[in-house]
Amino acid sequence: MNMQKALFLLVFSILFPLIGYGQNRQREVAVTFDDLPATHGNYTKYKYITDNLLAKLRTEKVPAIGFVNESKLFVYAEIDKHIALLKQWLDEGHDLGNHTFSHISIDQSTFEQYTEDLVRGETVTKLLLAEKGQKLKFYRHTQLRTGPTEEYRQKLADFLTKKGYKTAPVTIDNNDYIFALAYSRAKEKGDDVLQKKIVTAYIEYMSKIFEHFENLSVEFLGYEVKQTLLLHANEINADHFDKLAQMLRKRGYKFITLEEALKDGAYKLPEARSTRGLSWLHRWMLAKGLEMKEEPSEPAWIRGI
Ligand SMILES: [Zn+2]
Repeated sequence: MNMQKALFLLVFSILFPLIGYGQNRQREVAVTFDDLPATHGNYTKYKYITDNLLAKLRTEKVPAIGFVNESKLFVYAEIDKHIALLKQWLDEGHDLGNHTFSHISIDQSTFEQYTEDLVRGETVTKLLLAEKGQKLKFYRHTQLRTGPTEEYRQKLADFLTKKGYKTAPVTIDNNDYIFALAYSRAKEKGDDVLQKKIVTAYIEYMSKIFEHFENLSVEFLGYEVKQTLLLHANEINADHFDKLAQMLRKRGYKFITLEEALKDGAYKLPEARSTRGLSWLHRWMLAKGLEMKEEPSEPAWIRGI
C-alpha cells in the first residue's frame, strides 16, 4: 500500500461515519390531537373514538397530547362520564392542553370574547392535570389562527405568556378532517370497499405531506426540524392510527413528546402573522420574506363522498 492510498483510507474511515450519521439522522415527530373528546358526535361516539385511539397509541407506543374543547363535556346529567373520557388520556400517560371552550373563531370575536372563551376552556382540564400533579402548559389556537391583526396577535401572545401557556405549534399541517368526514360517511353506509379506499388514500396523502414538510425544512433550516403533527380526534384516526404510525416508522421517525420537540431551536424563530392557519415552517419562512410552498392536496374524489 502506498502512502497516498493509506492516507485516503485513513481520511475516509474518519469521514464516512460522519457522513453516514448525517444521512441517517433520526427523524422525530410529536403527535398532537385536536378537538377532544372528539370532533363530532354524542357520548357513544366520543367513547368509541377515545377507547380506540388510546388503544392504538398504546400498542404503537406513541406519546401524545390532546387539545380539549370543554364545551363538549357539558351534557345535562352526563358531565361526569364525559370528564372521564379526558381522564383516560392522562391515565394512559398522555398530556392535555387547552383548545378554547367552544372552539371559538378568532376572526369573529373580539379579544375580550376570545380570551374569555379561552379561560373558560381550562377549568376541567386544569383540575384533572392537578390531580395527577401536573400543570396545564400548552395552548393550541383554533384553526391555527393566531390573530386577525398584528396588534391582536401580539396582545394574545402576551396574554398567553402571562397565563403561563406555551403555544403548541404545528409544522405538519394537513387536511385529515376531509378524509375523516368521507370515512365516517362510508362507515355509516356500511361500504367496506369505499372505507378501505379512503384509508389507503389517507396514508398515501399523509406520506406526501410529510415528504413536503421534510424537504421544506431542509431547504429552509438546513435540517429536518423535530416535527409537530396535527391530527384530530376522529373516527379514521381511531380506527387506523396504527397504519399512520407504521408509515412514519418506515420513514425513519421516532415518536417524542411535544415538550421534547419544542427543544428544537427552530421553534424560537420569529413567525410572520398570517390570517390563515399555516404550518409554522411557512410562518418562519414568511417572516424571512420567503415565499410559501403550498402543500400537496387531497384527491378531488374525497370531497364528493
Ligand atoms: Zn380544532
